[in-house]
This record gives sequence, C-alpha cells and structure tokens, in this order.
Amino acid sequence: MSSTPSLFAFIANGPLCAEDAMADKSFASRVIWDAQSKRSINDPAVLPIYQSAGWVFRSLDEVDAVYEGRQPGTIYGGSGVPDHQALEALVSSLHGSEDTVVTAAGMSAFTATIISLAKSGDRIVAARDLYGNTSRLLDDLRKFGVTTDTFDASDPASVTDALRSSARLVIVETISNPRVRVADLTAVCRAAHECGALVIVDNSLASPYHCQPVRFGADLVIESITKFLGGHMDLTLGSVSGPASLLGPIRLLAARLGLISATLDAWLAIRSIATLDVRLARSSANAGEVASWLASHSKVRAVHYPGLATHATHSLAKGVLERGYGSVVSFELEPDRRLVDRLLAALAHIKLVLSFAGVSTSLSHPATSSHRSLTADQRRAIGIHDGFLRLSVGVENPADIIGDLARGLAAV
Ligand SMILES: *Cc1c(COP(=O)(O)O)cnc(C)c1O
Repeated sequence: MSSTPSLFAFIANGPLCAEDAMADKSFASRVIWDAQSKRSINDPAVLPIYQSAGWVFRSLDEVDAVYEGRQPGTIYGGSGVPDHQALEALVSSLHGSEDTVVTAAGMSAFTATIISLAKSGDRIVAARDLYGNTSRLLDDLRKFGVTTDTFDASDPASVTDALRSSARLVIVETISNPRVRVADLTAVCRAAHECGALVIVDNSLASPYHCQPVRFGADLVIESITKFLGGHMDLTLGSVSGPASLLGPIRLLAARLGLISATLDAWLAIRSIATLDVRLARSSANAGEVASWLASHSKVRAVHYPGLATHATHSLAKGVLERGYGSVVSFELEPDRRLVDRLLAALAHIKLVLSFAGVSTSLSHPATSSHRSLTADQRRAIGIHDGFLRLSVGVENPADIIGDLARGLAAV
C-alpha cells in the first residue's frame, strides 16, 4: 500500500487513517474499501463524469457551509453534481443570466418553473403557437385552479389586449414550434411588466446562438437542451435561466420533484455546446438555402421560415434574431397524409424523426406527433394539417440536402 492516503481510504477512514488499522480488514471490507485512486495533482483536460449520488463531508460545519452556499460543494446526486454545475454556468454565460437550473428535460424545466411561480387563482397568458406538450401542461394546471388565455405573440395589439386583466405569467416561444413565428419579445415584455407579470420565454428553437431573451427583458428563459444545445439527438435535458432570486426556489423544487437529470446527459451537453457556434452557423445557412429552394417548388403550397421576406414575422425576426434565422423550416404539401408517405418513401437520407435539431437533416409531421395531443380544432386554429411538415436542417452539404428533397418531392 502506498504511503499517500488513497482517495477511498481517505473517504472511508478520515485523512489520518493508520495503515496498520487497514491491514487486518476482512475480505468483505476489502471488496469495498480497496479500490484505490491517488488524488491527482494535475487536472484532467475534460471534466470527469461524476457518477456519484452520495458525497462525503469531513464535518458538520462543512455541511452547513455547503448548504448555505458559503463553500462550493455537492450535497447529493439528486440536487446536481459538478457536471450539472458546469453546464449551468455555461448556459448562464450564453444567456447572460445570473443563474441557471438544469433539469432532466425541457418539460421538467417548465414544470418546476410554473409550479414554483403560480398558485391557485392565478392567470397565465400564453402564446397561441406553443409546443404541444406545453399547451397540454397548461391544460393540466386548470384542475389546480390556474387558468390560461392565449394571444398572438407576434402581434403587439393582441399582447396588449390579453394583458388588460392581470396575469401572473406570460409564456412565449422566441421562434414558435412548428410555424416558426417570431415573438415580439420587446412588446411582450413591456406589456407584461406593466401589469406585474413575469415573462417566461421558451428559446428552444433559437438557442442562445440566435437569441438571448434576457436582453429583451425576459425574466426566465427555458431551453429544451434536448434540441440545439444538445444537437445530436442523444440526450434529454432542459434548463431555466434567470435571476438568482427566482432560481433559488426553482432549484430546490426541481430537486424535491426529482427533476434533475442523469449525470451523463449533462456531461454530453457540455461536449455538444462546444460546437454550438460552428454547428448553427452551418445549419442556419443551410436552412436559408433550403427554404428558398422549397419556396420555388411547384409541389410546395407554402414555406414557413423567418428568413424569407414573405414570412409573416420576417421584419420582427430581424430585430429579435441574430446570426441568421434558425435551422427549422416548415412547409406544406396539399393536406393529404398519403402525399407525406410518398415523400418519405422516396427520400434516401432524410428520415422521419419525432424530434429535431440533430446534425443530420430530419423531417417531422406535427399533426401525428408533437401536436397529436391537440384536438383537430386546436390544430386547425394554428394551421397544422395533414400536409404540414417540419424540416430540421442539419450540417450536411446543402446541395445534398436539396438533392434528397428534390428526389422526395418528385414522388409526391
Ligand atoms: C422539445 C420542446 C420542448 C420540450 O423539451 P423536452 O426536452 O423534450 O422536454 C419544449 N419547447 C419546445 C419549443 C420544444 O421544441
């Protein structure tokens, strides 16, 4: 045995454990205590995966200091380990926010945030264009006495109108899913703050590469890290960013509700965000090319992309988004799902995938997936029919993406 106390001996027996006290351990103890790792004096270049639910403290004073935030430290896996803390610092930096809580999914970030801030009798005002599960979550809250009214987030008159009576929370998406309509964040935040409401912006389609909603006055920013921040369709994570005064209670509630992610996903997200800038520079430029090409195709009824001059929110997008207009392009065929099946069968590389924002281009069909839980009437109200498709443009060569789409559309 080495004369330097090993990490595990240190943990099990305290810093001054005598080697002779270890010598007569039984086999049953050696299988547990004898995994030896010397404390390293140099650091790994890449943050390790801290796969530990339990964390060791040397004294009760140290427990107090970590709980009270006077000393950095990890309390318990269920409240986040150093990989989560590193990811939270990274997302806070990208959003220019004071604090961030990382959760197991975008929807858990919404759950913790809304449960923390809303109480029975409160009114929420939400954009009409919302991700399907967010709309359903707001429906779920009705049984707890929290009601929701909707408005058009790209129309300042609709915003003012919706906020004539008081509201606790206003919820909008920077770029809506799937109609990719850009919200008038400045008008929404001004009107909300005038009536004392907090603004929650779901920034999942933009990511901090294209928009940092805090700069427009948003109180809280939610990311489905599952999407562009994760960027490889291999993890599920969410985050909420904002001032420490709001995030403190959200952090405790998220841990209490069991909403903190597995460590590996946080570690993967840190690795993925390192390429966010280069991935999105490529994919958003590709999306612009693909959108223009689709707009001139005879089989395509309509193209939705905020970068197109014909898009309903193009001029708003110029003020809200930077470095391009995002990597999601929606388009419409005639409202007939058989046409969609013909397209899918003829595509060689682009697959039907019920998520988006990976490095490879993929298609989804909101009516049967992300917006499946809405009634047909609710879908009709937001223009989603059987021929509506959402294309997530990846980082391949744009000519090859267009080539595959041309092959697919020729069969429609
Ligand atoms: C996917 C998505 C969510 C939900 O995120 P999960 O990580 O899947 O829970 C929320 N909002 C938008 C706009 C999304 O696209």
